[in-house]
Amino acid sequence: MTFAVFVPGAVITPEGGWPVLYWLSGLTCDDTNFSTKAGAFAWAAKEGLAVVMPDTSPRGAGVPGEDESWDFGTGAGFYVDATAEPWSKNYKMATYVTIELPALVEKEFGVSPTLKSVSGHSMGGHGALTLALSTRKFVSVSAFAPICNPTACPWGEKAFKGYLGSVEAGEAHDATLLMTSPAFEEILVDQGLDDSFLETQLLPDNFVAACQKVGQKLRLRKHAGYDHSYYFVSSFIKDHVEFHAKALRSSKVAAATAAAAAAETAAETAPPPKEEERVVEVAAPITCKAMVAFEPKAPLECRTVVVAAPKTGEVRVRVAANALCHTDVYTWSGQDPEGLFPSILGHEAGAIVESVGPGVTTLSVGDHIVPGYTPQCSAPSCVFCSSPKTNLCPRIRASQGKGVMPDGTSRFSLEDGTTVFHFMGCSTFSEYTVLAEISCAKISPAMPLYKACLFGCGVSTGLGAVFNTTKVEPGSSVAVFGLGAVGLAVVQAAKMAGATRIVGIDLNPAKESVGRDFGITDFLNPADSEEPIQKRVVSMTQWGVDYTYDCTGNVDVMRAALECAHRGWGTSCVIGVAASGKEISTRPFQLVTGRRWCGTAFGGWKTRTDVPKLVDEHLAGQLPIDAYITHVLRGVDKTNEAIHILEGGECLRCVVVY
Ligand SMILES: [Zn+2]
Ligand SMILES: [Zn+2]
Repeated sequence: MTFAVFVPGAVITPEGGWPVLYWLSGLTCDDTNFSTKAGAFAWAAKEGLAVVMPDTSPRGAGVPGEDESWDFGTGAGFYVDATAEPWSKNYKMATYVTIELPALVEKEFGVSPTLKSVSGHSMGGHGALTLALSTRKFVSVSAFAPICNPTACPWGEKAFKGYLGSVEAGEAHDATLLMTSPAFEEILVDQGLDDSFLETQLLPDNFVAACQKVGQKLRLRKHAGYDHSYYFVSSFIKDHVEFHAKALRSSKVAAATAAAAAAETAAETAPPPKEEERVVEVAAPITCKAMVAFEPKAPLECRTVVVAAPKTGEVRVRVAANALCHTDVYTWSGQDPEGLFPSILGHEAGAIVESVGPGVTTLSVGDHIVPGYTPQCSAPSCVFCSSPKTNLCPRIRASQGKGVMPDGTSRFSLEDGTTVFHFMGCSTFSEYTVLAEISCAKISPAMPLYKACLFGCGVSTGLGAVFNTTKVEPGSSVAVFGLGAVGLAVVQAAKMAGATRIVGIDLNPAKESVGRDFGITDFLNPADSEEPIQKRVVSMTQWGVDYTYDCTGNVDVMRAALECAHRGWGTSCVIGVAASGKEISTRPFQLVTGRRWCGTAFGGWKTRTDVPKLVDEHLAGQLPIDAYITHVLRGVDKTNEAIHILEGGECLRCVVVY
């Protein structure tokens, strides 16, 4: 048996495997029809969906008569397990499609055993509907021009008589007859009205009546001018891919939520541990690998470190993935005068709680979290946390800046006892780290952690600069200086907010293309002209643009960004982190004439409240972030390589999976 598999472009198989669509082809087709004619893969890639495309029958099995007709035997297995001789030995298509093939592709291609949907065309539409209804193994089902009532049409009668011995035996394989109770939230079927098989073989109205009778929601779309061909399939396949992707996403969220709830209930109902067990439960120090920065610019060293147990109000987490950010490189390079050595850098991560210290009430072992370098204590006495105007909670700022935990000590040491400092309250270049409870955003366990890490810094910052700090309105014009991950997140958010003109500015001409992918409408390279860049932006627009963003950290660029903001009301937002000791300047006239200068840290998001919401938006398909991941490496010891890649300039985010 041959089959084809499409796996989306990302390098990492998500936890639990790829959500997958099984596609069943029609009469005479093999495993190539769909892959070459349907044009589905761009949409599947966009949705992160794998596609498995089996053949429609055994080939060359040598069954007498297998090649005598086009609608029976080779290419026409009808998705049943044959019971009649001479077919019963080889023609086991139902078992093949629902058991044998899934077991194989789950093992070899990392497709999910539970997050699977099924669709198909004609005989394959019949296969999709009947296998979905009879096995209940699929989250969702759709079909193109399916044979809806095969016991009442010539194709079905011939197949059932041949494979099963009688038409009556086919009643268990007839979608119209199997529709005895609502089984899916909705079934999607497309049918062309110029299909020459419509009246004699397909009989969709019988299926409609059966669905109506039992209250199964069916979206049957009838299309004038479409026939039975793959042109018809390719015209509407995008809708089917999106239909299944949406169903699989909500199924994944529901399953993860149910599992988390079950784990919580189990923890609550578990008997209290006996005294001696409690002693064991006090977390012991963990030794693990971490990348230690011993001095500026020297390559990080992969060392065995001892990570002490979490103290009061702290949790220890296993870091699953870390995305490299320029701030790590900035500190590592020695430009940060407050940088401490030896230390463990890293602050953009996805992690799982391994143990909790005394007094921790909002996190449990096993919770998935994104560490935040901006904590959120949520204490009523904290005027910052109590105010909707800011996310800058100062609760642990002093100790965080000194590279220690709130009690003034570090949880990291080398094997010889040397103390290693924390960094930004995160230190995620380590397989395990200790965080303050108030620094952890608890996120949906449905979110793959190698993607969740992006919400820990750069991407969130760019999004928040638009949504929270400057609140871009529909129809606005925007200029973004610096098209790295942060700048592109600004572009993405500006487009989502309805900005109609988005000017991207970067010294690297290669950024124009990726910028356009994210939504810029114009691109300027300051190196192309002697004329100051702010003048060039203003001359494109008469009075300047409504919102400008510095994503470079360069104070001259910050000035340019302010000076091309719209006279009278333009707002310029500083996002980039400037080198220590640098100052910004402009003529006061620029502000007197209505321009406003502001800045943002972590995009104004409150870590614990807002990061989980960003994750949920992504899971709902409303906030795509996959395009930021341009490089993936495995193993914490690959962090030096990641730094090298990030410095190369082609990289948006390099995720290191531990
Ligand atoms: Zn960062
Ligand atoms: Zn606070």
